[in-house]
Amino acid sequence: MNQQPDWPDPSALRAVTGRLAAAPPPVFAAECDRLRDRLAAVARGEAFLLQGGDCAETFGSTGVEEVRGKLKTLLQMAVILTYAAAVPVVRIGRMAGQYAKPRSSPVEERDGAVLPSYRGDAVNGREFTAGARRPDPERMWRMYESSVTTLNLVRALTGGGFADLRQVHDWNRGFVVGSPAGERYERLAGEIEHALSFMQACGADTRGLTTADFFVGHEGLLLDYEEALTRGDESGRRYATSAHFLWIGERTRDLDGEHVAYFAGIANPIGVKLGPTAHPDAVLGLLDRLDPDREPGRLTFVVRAGADRVRDVLPPLVEKVASEGARVAWVCDPMHGNTFTAPSGHKTRRFDAVLDEVAGFTEVHHALGTHPGGIHVELTGDDVTECIGGGYEVRPEDLRHRYETACDPRLNHAQSLDLAFRVAELYRAGRTG
Ligand code: PEP
Ligand code: MN
Repeated sequence: MNQQPDWPDPSALRAVTGRLAAAPPPVFAAECDRLRDRLAAVARGEAFLLQGGDCAETFGSTGVEEVRGKLKTLLQMAVILTYAAAVPVVRIGRMAGQYAKPRSSPVEERDGAVLPSYRGDAVNGREFTAGARRPDPERMWRMYESSVTTLNLVRALTGGGFADLRQVHDWNRGFVVGSPAGERYERLAGEIEHALSFMQACGADTRGLTTADFFVGHEGLLLDYEEALTRGDESGRRYATSAHFLWIGERTRDLDGEHVAYFAGIANPIGVKLGPTAHPDAVLGLLDRLDPDREPGRLTFVVRAGADRVRDVLPPLVEKVASEGARVAWVCDPMHGNTFTAPSGHKTRRFDAVLDEVAGFTEVHHALGTHPGGIHVELTGDDVTECIGGGYEVRPEDLRHRYETACDPRLNHAQSLDLAFRVAELYRAGRTG
């Protein structure tokens, strides 16, 4: 099967999927339905989707500080977009389940030695040894445990008042100060605080002003795992309970493949990544198969064409879908089409290319009268040096300082805030221009 590991021991695999099938579901159907309603607002052009987190989560990064750092970064980005672009923001963490990775090659070669590629902590270990790279189904149980641990933290932090708008200054606490985007954020937080005081002085009750729900999603790649956690609700509809939102990756969106078949059978809101080679007819095929009822909120297309291609690739796709009368959410992933290897050997991305892809995506939608519905980004709350550029300039020679990703390069905290400010400007310019 496409991008599935070669589990060496079928009985060990059955034992794990059996335990997963009997385990409590991480999320519930009603939560997935609520997200579908929120995404319907995105599809109708009334809200914006912010989706972000690691390229690959690891079992070693489920601690409070790591999770809180990512959550705070996403909350800050969402408040920047809400305030600066005056649009409601739906937030989905690329978190609590992002443990399996598709690979362009099933093997990796180093100094003449050939071993299976690292497929994410859900499958094997990163270390370049035969033992670590052997797929181990027991890792899927650890994926479940790590996901529920992370989800518990996310739920406790957002439900415990941490996502309250009155904490807008606190979300910046603990981050490196002095970046231009960080300072800009402090000013914006001050304005929001001022606006809240004004509302209070006018007699409005600002106590309930949480910035609303926070959802989680990941690539639904490992079908053994996803199927074991698929459950029916009272009405007989089936839901993936590993996350609220699942997406199909660029390498597994084959119309006749197992992933599309699985996704067609679940009721969650779902996404499909579309790379530069996506043909309008293939996109129409996906639409018919995955959203036959044309239900706004069900389907999100996540376009990752690359900064130099998006202006050519996107218009025929959007026009084809619009001509069908379908209301999907269109989201821009400005990361995966802009990856290259730096002279130092690090896989990296330029902040300017990321921004340019979002600009191209927004331009196309504004020209066609459709809605640039959101962004899907790889980021972390840490002060890593994995992407080049940004307001707090990371130079190519800085890459080696803090290059910590388990897979693709992520925007660091300052770059993430910088991106949110720039996206808000693009969005507003398009609406008023
Ligand atoms: C990813 O989101 O990490 C990924 C592998 O993306 P894509 O499927 O778009 O290549
Ligand atoms: Mn990635």
